[in-house]
Amino acid sequence: MAGTLYLIATPIGNLEDITHRAVRLLGQVDVIACEDTRHTKKLLNHYGINTRTISYHEHNERERSRELIERLKSGADVAVVSDAGTPGISDPGFRLARIAIDCDVQVVPVPGASALISALVASGLPTDEFFFGGFLPARSGARRARLAELRSLPATLIFYEGPHRIAATLKDALEILGERQAVVARELTKMHEEIARGSLSELTSRFSSPESARGEMVLIIDRTVMPNENAGNQSDASVSALVKEFEANGLDHRAALKKAARELGLSRDEAYRRLVSERRDS
Ligand code: SAM
Repeated sequence: MAGTLYLIATPIGNLEDITHRAVRLLGQVDVIACEDTRHTKKLLNHYGINTRTISYHEHNERERSRELIERLKSGADVAVVSDAGTPGISDPGFRLARIAIDCDVQVVPVPGASALISALVASGLPTDEFFFGGFLPARSGARRARLAELRSLPATLIFYEGPHRIAATLKDALEILGERQAVVARELTKMHEEIARGSLSELTSRFSSPESARGEMVLIIDRTVMPNENAGNQSDASVSALVKEFEANGLDHRAALKKAARELGLSRDEAYRRLVSERRDS
């Protein structure tokens, strides 16, 4: 019988952020494929795990995937971990999962930390619909073109970023997307954790110097409507009037309510609550 491929999430900083199941499986599998074996050894030592490790990173992913598939086919259980968070999310893992599926090897996720979800839930920006764009291109021209493609997406935008590019990325985001609320979540779960919230222009000046921009970061940007800026006129607007207008333009009720919520910078639940109360009052 073929073995199982486990994609195991590990901490993004604080070593306690790992599940009991992940610790158990890391101790039970035949081999752990790691992005950086020395880095993962620190985690394994912390939990007293002696399982054999081999390297599996972006430069040997293709050949290592073949080798690992052979082991899986011959009955070995394999765990894949990355340096931080969930493997396959801006990290190696996807290719092996894909080949394993093609070879009828069972693929099992072992969930846990991921920087994008941790940053999003603490950001205070809407979580109902979001778009994760991984790392934006390193070159400004390509980065600006990518941001322009995402300009009118009705979702919270999430990107991974490093300390060397955050200032340039914030500047490009301000110029291409216009002023919006945003968050830079830095060093999450670590000693110098910081969640900086503000408008894109405030964050651009906040992170303009190299000293202010240390560590690993997630950049989160609000969707097109800036609720705070429009709070005076928008949030007082009638949900039912907007819904009626959108329905008259051909949208069904559900789509009309969704669009009204977006335009008012409200969650769908909040828009629905207001709609019910406005109808009751009238
Ligand atoms: N697989 C990881 C995950 O699930 O989050 C992401 C790996 S990706 C190569 C590394 C990027 O994730 C960093 O450049 C940073 O943008 C983000 N990141 C990882 N750890 C972080 C942390 N503790 N705080 C903020 N961002 C982090």
